[in-house]
Order: sequence, then structure tokens, then C-alpha cells
Amino acid sequence: MLEKSKLRSIILPFLLIGICLFSSCADQGTNSESSVQTSEPSSFSTPESPTQHTDGSLTISYLDVGQGDCSFIVLPNGENILIDAGNQSDGENIIEYIRESGITTLDYVVATHPHADHIGSMAQVISAFEVEKVYMPKKAHTSKTFEDLLDTVKEKGLSITSAKEGAVLFDYGNLKAEFLAPNADSYENLNNYSAVLLLTYGDRRFLFMGDAEAESEAEILAHNIDISADLLKVGHHGSATSSTESFISAVNPSHAVISVGENNSYGHPDPAVLSILENTATVWRTDERGTIIATCDGENITLNHIATSIQPHAPPDVSSDSASDESPDDRQSTTVYITESGTKYHRDGCQYLKKSKISISLSDLDRNKYSPCSRCKPPEK
Ligand SMILES: [Zn+2]
Ligand SMILES: [Zn+2]
Repeated sequence: MLEKSKLRSIILPFLLIGICLFSSCADQGTNSESSVQTSEPSSFSTPESPTQHTDGSLTISYLDVGQGDCSFIVLPNGENILIDAGNQSDGENIIEYIRESGITTLDYVVATHPHADHIGSMAQVISAFEVEKVYMPKKAHTSKTFEDLLDTVKEKGLSITSAKEGAVLFDYGNLKAEFLAPNADSYENLNNYSAVLLLTYGDRRFLFMGDAEAESEAEILAHNIDISADLLKVGHHGSATSSTESFISAVNPSHAVISVGENNSYGHPDPAVLSILENTATVWRTDERGTIIATCDGENITLNHIATSIQPHAPPDVSSDSASDESPDDRQSTTVYITESGTKYHRDGCQYLKKSKISISLSDLDRNKYSPCSRCKPPEK
């Protein structure tokens, strides 16, 4: 196990950022309190020489897949968990993101439930990697996406382990992952079949809800077990069908992540859910922040995001939280990026720059032709 994890223990590029953040935590005298640092890393590229994953940190990436779900977790022992794989159009980005971290094997793959915004690219992602174990709730679906997933699992010679309450992915003492749901064999609503995963590392707990709704939340509560978690991946994209007040108060999260598409037609997240969450937690949304990354050393949790970036040529400044810190001189020389066919301009690292990326000084930009990207929110002056 140890050897295996060593081989695969090439760390994600943003670990470097994590290290900076941890040291800045130490500087500020943060102790056992879980802390949030917001900063904007300078790039989203793989470092030239991959760093060994030796610092014992857990890294969770809540990938920005628009109106969908995809969480990728690298465990402190080098193993990893993929929970869901976004919509059908997200496959390439998800695969690239995982590959950039040097990972070639997915140890634990969880398809929370058969909706297309969760398993849309799962067949493609499973095809692209070696896969050890696949977990799914016992619920068939007639969609082509679901059929394709089953075919791919079969082609790869994999079997499906049933995701249900009480099933344990692993238990290494201070590192454990187990399912809290589904608790029943049948539900009217497909969302309630969602595999709900509780991950524990040291003193910290992370809860991943899938699209579980109030019915599933009530079943989890009925067990009267400790479901408190420091970081909650909010159920069903922040919909009002989930995150009941009693459930959120039992979880009592410090941080809450909502995976949701900008201006989605469902009206997610619901304002009532946001206000319930904001009673206890800092809310991070992928439609506002892009991909959200949580790192944890077993004690402190650090949150970060990678949709936006600091000036490409500016010195790294982890304490800078917004572009408004720039001096007027800096603004004049600001470099932004456009694409061959688009009418938006972007910050370096924006997901919309995947296909083409042309750098241009902000002062040279034709403002009649280009407007700022609403995703990465580049400087306007
Ligand atoms: Zn969903
Ligand atoms: Zn769903």
C-alpha cells in the first residue's frame, strides 16, 4: 500500500500554493481553529518538476463543472477519490485536471446517483484512467448516459460496489470514508438515492451530499449519529428541496461549497438555503469562484479557488484577495486574455481560455468589441 501510494504520490500543482498558505497561517498565529485563506494563485499549470506528496495533506477540488457536480479528492496517503463527473461536456476538462496532478489511477470512484449532471462524463473519465473501485447506489436508470457508464464499467472488467449507508470505503484510523446514505432500498425521487459520503481526516470532517433531498436528510438524522462536519458539499446544488434547517444545524459546517451553474434555469442556490447555511458557514459557490480547493493537514482547513488569478507577471502575493489592491500603475500594464472568436476578455487561468488564449494589454483592448468575462471577472480599468 505504501509503495503503491509513493508511486502515485505526485502532488497536485496547487499544493505549492497550499504550502504558502499554511505558512501564512502559521505567521498569523492560527492554531487549532480551522482557517480560511482566500487567495488567487498565479497559474493553473503543472509545475515543471512534480513535487512529492509528502506533507500529509488532504486536497479536495470541487471542480467548476457549471450546473453539475464533480469533486476530486487526493488523500494524504496518495490515494484518491472521484465523486461524480459533471455533465457530458465536462469530460476533457475533468480528465485534464486529474492528469495534471500526475495521477493515472483512480482508487475510488463514486457515482452518487444516475442523473446526467453527475454521471455525464463518468464513462469517459473511467475510460481514461486505471480504476480500482467503483461505487454506485443500487438504482438503474434508462438513460443512455447511464447505460454507457455500465458498459464502460463492464468493458474495463470492473464490478460495482453498492453505495449505501454503513458501507466503508476505507478506514485507516485517522483517515476514513464511509457512506451515510442511501438508507432505503427505494425512493420516488432519484435524487434521494444519492450516495452521501463522510470523509474524516484527523480532527476534520467533510460531508458530500450528492443531490440527497430532505427525505434522505431525515433518514440520516434518524440514526442519531454524529454528522457534524467542518466542510459541507451542499446537497442538490443548493436547491430548496435539500439542506433542511434541522439537517444543517446537525452538520453545523464552518464552510459550505455549492456546485452550481451561473444563471442556471433552476434558480439554484435557493435564497432560503443560503440564509440557513450562512447562519453557520462561509459559503463558497463554483459559479462565483470557479474550481474551489480545500486543503487540510488534519487540523486546519484552507480554502482557495482557481477561476481568477493575480497579474500574470506580478510577484506572488498570497495575501492579496482582490484585484483592487493594484496600484494605478499596475493597472495600466495589466495583461488580459482574449480568444480567437469570443467577445469576452479574461484573467489568466480562466476556464474559457482552454481552447485559445491571446494576451493583450488592458489599455490596448477594444472596449467596443470586448467585455469582461462574468466568470473570472477581470479588471475593468
Ligand atoms: Zn445534480
Ligand atoms: Zn440529481
